[in-house]
Amino acid sequence: MSHQLSGNCGCGQVKFAIKAAKANVVNCHCNRCRKLNGSSFSTYFVVAEQGFEISEGENYLSDYSSSENARKHFCKQCGTPIYNQNLKYPNLRMVHFGAINFLEEVQPNVNIFCESILSWVALNGEIPSFEQEIKK
Ligand SMILES: [Zn+2]
Ligand SMILES: [Zn+2]
Repeated sequence: MSHQLSGNCGCGQVKFAIKAAKANVVNCHCNRCRKLNGSSFSTYFVVAEQGFEISEGENYLSDYSSSENARKHFCKQCGTPIYNQNLKYPNLRMVHFGAINFLEEVQPNVNIFCESILSWVALNGEIPSFEQEIKK
């Protein structure tokens, strides 16, 4: 499966392109992501760094160290989260799914940090779910 996708922040200043031969789409139910994104859970389109490019508005990006390993990049004008980096996975970009002009056929394929999932969130039982991080 190959993906050619574009995306932008809510105000349109930041635009990006994704070219990925393969991608994981991860639902993260951890409390840190929940708080940082103001959402019930967070969905990330995970691609290799060379498959992700800011095409416009790089000067509108700001970033924040959300933990000792993680850095969140967001539009400083409208606040839309664009992507995360994690020192544990330096070659990956965790692109915030809601910022992508997405294709309906691209769907999550794993749930992580289900130990802190909200009780009313229904999991898709057909994809793997992990209490914490993905275990191979
Ligand atoms: Zn913006
Ligand atoms: Zn998380």
